[in-house]
Amino acid sequence: MRHDWETRLAGRDCPFDKPAPVNSDSLFFVRSLQVSSLYLDRNQNYRGHCLLIFDPRHVARIDQLTGGEWAALSRDLYVAECAIFRALRPDHINVESLGNVTPHLHWHITPRNIEDDRWGGAIWTTSPEEMGHKTLTEGEYRQLADIIDREVEILLR
Ligand SMILES: [Zn+2]
Repeated sequence: MRHDWETRLAGRDCPFDKPAPVNSDSLFFVRSLQVSSLYLDRNQNYRGHCLLIFDPRHVARIDQLTGGEWAALSRDLYVAECAIFRALRPDHINVESLGNVTPHLHWHITPRNIEDDRWGGAIWTTSPEEMGHKTLTEGEYRQLADIIDREVEILLR
């Protein structure tokens, strides 16, 4: 188990390393920001659930960034969270950086609504397999990505 973790920590076969596929089985590309890329999670059980993935190189944690990289990533996270909120107007938003499955620095930005099956708690209380799974059509992913992208454009003006 330790060897497996250390291999992944070092970036072996890391699915988030560049050149990453623009779209994959688990991610739908929204846009690139300063030092990161924003994707929709293909599982839209929580509508608007996005990942913001640090792009320049493989790092697992914030302490591995330079001060300048952290400042740029923080700005990207700010823009992404604001855009997602403005696009979807949820009751709340969760922002989490876990990296227990894929130890490449990324954030989950998850809109939350009072009607959620897990409102009042984290979405991660059970294994991913036990979570609800909702996929969209390619056109629906595109539409959702576009309304988030439009808000990013406005924020970057
Ligand atoms: Zn990586």
